[in-house]
Amino acid sequence: MSDKNQGDPPKELDEKNASSDPSSQAPVLNPWGQDIVADDDYQRLCEEFGIKFVQELEIPYSMFEKNRFLRRKIIYGHRDFDMIVKAIQEEKPWAVMSGIKPSGAFHLGTMMTASEIVEFQHMGGKVYYAIADVEAYVDNGISFEESFENAVDNLADILTLGLDPKEAYIWLQSREQLVKDMPFEAGRYVTNNMMKAIYGDREFALYIAALIQVGDILLPQLKDQVMPTVVPVGIDQEPHIRLVRDLTRHFKRTNVDPKTGKEKSRPLFKPAATYHKLLPGLDDIQKKMSKSNPNSYFNLGDDPKSIRKKMMGAFTGGRRNREEQEKLGGVPEICMVYKLLQIHFQPDDEKLQDRYLRCRGGMLCGGCKKEAAKIILDYIADHNERKKAFIPIAQEILSRNE
Ligand code: SF4
Repeated sequence: MSDKNQGDPPKELDEKNASSDPSSQAPVLNPWGQDIVADDDYQRLCEEFGIKFVQELEIPYSMFEKNRFLRRKIIYGHRDFDMIVKAIQEEKPWAVMSGIKPSGAFHLGTMMTASEIVEFQHMGGKVYYAIADVEAYVDNGISFEESFENAVDNLADILTLGLDPKEAYIWLQSREQLVKDMPFEAGRYVTNNMMKAIYGDREFALYIAALIQVGDILLPQLKDQVMPTVVPVGIDQEPHIRLVRDLTRHFKRTNVDPKTGKEKSRPLFKPAATYHKLLPGLDDIQKKMSKSNPNSYFNLGDDPKSIRKKMMGAFTGGRRNREEQEKLGGVPEICMVYKLLQIHFQPDDEKLQDRYLRCRGGMLCGGCKKEAAKIILDYIADHNERKKAFIPIAQEILSRNE
């Protein structure tokens, strides 16, 4: 496969990381757990993990325009995202990689990264999307057959959100040999202490699933071409980013030079990452969305009456009573109703800004919730109607992986 037209991996990055030690002092986050990260924690976690702030980057306005997660500051942190900005400016190829664990219906949490990759695709990145059926088996005991059914449904949702399958490569972990081989390949450079330092003491199968994910993240460069790759994540997924960035230096891509007939090896780019704010529980901003608490989330396929009820019971940034609300205004920054519109359901910036100002100006939460519930239910009804046409397309894409 030709790898012409690419920028060279920045050498200093590879060298800088050559002596990195993932068993260093950073705290342990559990990517499979239910740890809550409050808005106040992002700055501290960025400092502890050495994550840089997006606001310190010089990003041209034309890029903000195409990505509402950057524009609305839902993405706040990054590692090496400047490489992606450079690739866009120089019109060189770059990739965005993400994935989904097919453990059930599409919900507000899975919708976040799915929508992000669609926005990154609008910015010109080729999408690489992993269906993490091995992780679903290891973490949740879900069979590959059941995962496949869920995956078709999930992929149809992503296509409905706007993913262009012609500019995307989508795979099931259990059927992608390069990915399945990665625990053996990367395992040569990994010790038990290293995994413990990054993930804490976990079942061995979860360590293996993490190594499979290394294969997912490096796949764009190992399968197609050496190019900058960005992985949009929440801070809870930071352990996976640390692991893959540490292991990348052990991998190279070898091509035969068509002119000389000799083999030529190139180091890979260390994967970049962007970090988005996590969506807390609908009913309690201090807790994470969790299947064990049905009031904390909803799926796009849920009964509209149930979604409406959850919206009306959502945690808001409203004051203690009408008088205070009218005098002081609400606090949209801590309101789940506002967050849902900001992240998912209000694509129009002006309408979102209008709600922000009306809230600050003393709008009452009851009326606001009713309006928001209508916007959200209309969006979901339209989504589900359009999704029907994408089911056979999703089925066909995933069957190519057999
Ligand atoms: Fe949230 Fe609306 Fe109440 Fe403001 S008025 S706090 S946006 S529900």
